[in-house]
Amino acid sequence: MRFLRMLLCVSLIGCTLPLFSGDNKDVDPKTGLRHGFDPAAMDKTADPCNDFFQYACGTWLAKNPVPAEYSDWDRFSELYEVNLAILHDILDKAAKPDPKRSAEEQKIGDYYASCMDEAAAEQKGASVLKPQLDQIAAMKSKSDLAEQVAHLQNYGIPSLMRFNSQQDFKNAESMIAEFDQGGLGLPDRDYYVKDEADKKEKREKYQLHVQKMFQLLGDAPVTAADEAKVVMAMETDLAKASQDRTFRRDPNNVYHKMTKAEFVKLSPNFNWNRYWQLMKVPQFTEINLAPPDFLKGVNAAIDAHPVEHWKTYLRWKVVNSAAPYLAKAFVDEDFDFNEHIMGGAEQIRPRWKRCVDYVDGNLGEALGKVYVDKTFGAEGKRRMLEMVDALHSALAKDIAGLDWMGDATKQKANDKLKAFARLIGYPDKWRDYSTLSVARNDFYGNVNRGDGFEKHRLLNRVGKPVDHGEWLMSPPTVNAYYRGSMNDITFPAGILQPPFFENSMDDAVNYGGIGLVIGHEMTHGFDDQGRKFDAKGNLNDWWTADDGKKFEERASCFVNEYGSFSPVADMHLNGKLTLGENTADNGGARIAFMALQQTLADKAKADPKVLEKVDGFTPEQRFFLGFGQVWCDNRREEFSKQMVTLDPHSPDKFRVNGVAQNMPEFQKAFSCKGGSPMVRENACRVW
Ligand SMILES: [Zn+2]
Repeated sequence: MRFLRMLLCVSLIGCTLPLFSGDNKDVDPKTGLRHGFDPAAMDKTADPCNDFFQYACGTWLAKNPVPAEYSDWDRFSELYEVNLAILHDILDKAAKPDPKRSAEEQKIGDYYASCMDEAAAEQKGASVLKPQLDQIAAMKSKSDLAEQVAHLQNYGIPSLMRFNSQQDFKNAESMIAEFDQGGLGLPDRDYYVKDEADKKEKREKYQLHVQKMFQLLGDAPVTAADEAKVVMAMETDLAKASQDRTFRRDPNNVYHKMTKAEFVKLSPNFNWNRYWQLMKVPQFTEINLAPPDFLKGVNAAIDAHPVEHWKTYLRWKVVNSAAPYLAKAFVDEDFDFNEHIMGGAEQIRPRWKRCVDYVDGNLGEALGKVYVDKTFGAEGKRRMLEMVDALHSALAKDIAGLDWMGDATKQKANDKLKAFARLIGYPDKWRDYSTLSVARNDFYGNVNRGDGFEKHRLLNRVGKPVDHGEWLMSPPTVNAYYRGSMNDITFPAGILQPPFFENSMDDAVNYGGIGLVIGHEMTHGFDDQGRKFDAKGNLNDWWTADDGKKFEERASCFVNEYGSFSPVADMHLNGKLTLGENTADNGGARIAFMALQQTLADKAKADPKVLEKVDGFTPEQRFFLGFGQVWCDNRREEFSKQMVTLDPHSPDKFRVNGVAQNMPEFQKAFSCKGGSPMVRENACRVW
């Protein structure tokens, strides 16, 4: 449900410095990035009514080939690099063993120092895995499986399934236990079960990768090849029992609440009580069995495979999870499969960039606290709240004016909009890491303790009241999100910078940038998924049957439109998987445009100059150009293929052109004639 690409955020890949064109008059002194819209990034030889993405971004695209370390390169990557440099500076200073360091600085500094000690990682080799592997080797029967899985998950090493806490969909103030699917090594079930050429190729290469990893652990090639076959067979069993990504978009399909006793009965082959005891899960009575078939699949897989297979499978889980933190041979093999083969990146990022990401992953709010002190002021928060207010009013006006929705549903939609909570910049209450110990000379131990700390933090929420102040992203993250169960929108400090947002930028460009991002997140509250949750965050149908039907009809227009886009030969976007994001992009653009119109009308009373052209473009044109340029993006073919399967967001090019095609406001701004590619005959519109 998040804005942009959470999927990318977890596997962000480094890059070189931005290669942005243009003169320096609008360059931000803090970030070195140009503010918002840049005429020099455009391709003025292109026709905006033919391909608006090319018109807005053409010169940028030509001048910004994907750097060797990246799978794709866009405006977010530019800003990510700027943040990396700031975080690098913070961590370099914190890593000096100064007794005056604060408790947070000690933790982030020592973690970073342990990660940067490449010689120690090389010298330790795979020996750091010995305690974990020995325990697996000592496994005597399948009845030990629960104990083994818990032992690894205590270090945050995932295997077999996911067990977690979640807000109860139908009682949003309560946190309950949750069982979900997991245990795969490839990024989606489709890679195991689909017959497409790309999927077949990737699973063959995956099996080879698994074999190579076993060889790195010291196994003979023939043994390692057999072990890789076993892993593939076991993960394929789990994949077959897993739910499809698109099916999971409907919250009703992943909500099956039952008692603990009912749950245990469904999977007698796994000793759940022992697992919960070892994981120190607080006492609970109710659990959400998100994918019922997967639990059956786990039970069946335990029957189907002998204990030796389980040992092989768990051994793979350990080495796969640990590889990025071990000696170079492991790190390189992990990169080769996960980033080069799967994403097309040509070279691994420098170690310091990876280390910054690992600190952010395990100690995000300790690092974020230092980061916001340096970068985010009260003025930024005030201006942002002002814009959220403007977007809020525009969406209320939009809802009031809808000709397809009845008054009863409008009233409920308005109640929901009014109840939106806003989290801006950074959390009010910082996460407490005091019980997490960080050692300067133990990188792998730090990763295990950090991942284990997070796993237990999440599990400890079971049975507790919901914490409305909890954040899903660290403050430096260049991203934003909406949560249906919380009914809140969140904008980390990381995204509140150029090219999205800048105090000195003109309104047209700010509304095309961060304005659209805010509108996008708000619209998520009313997309195919978000609309199923009410003002209090409960899964509860507040629509009249007739209005619900009309929503579905209108949404199906987006399914067809985006499903017709082909980002890479022989593959089309999945219109249903991307429906929520496409709805949010289109709704977000409309309400950001409305908010801009209102702002301009208000300001023009005192200063009519705000309506004049700048750089030769009207405010309306600058709005769309600002929007288009936020999404300038070059991506590698392998990455595009992977994203068609995984990403609920459309590729950036289609995020821009897909919206332009549906908006009469765009067509008017650029005087596009009927029949042009950017004028869709039956334009799609929900919000
Ligand atoms: Zn989104």
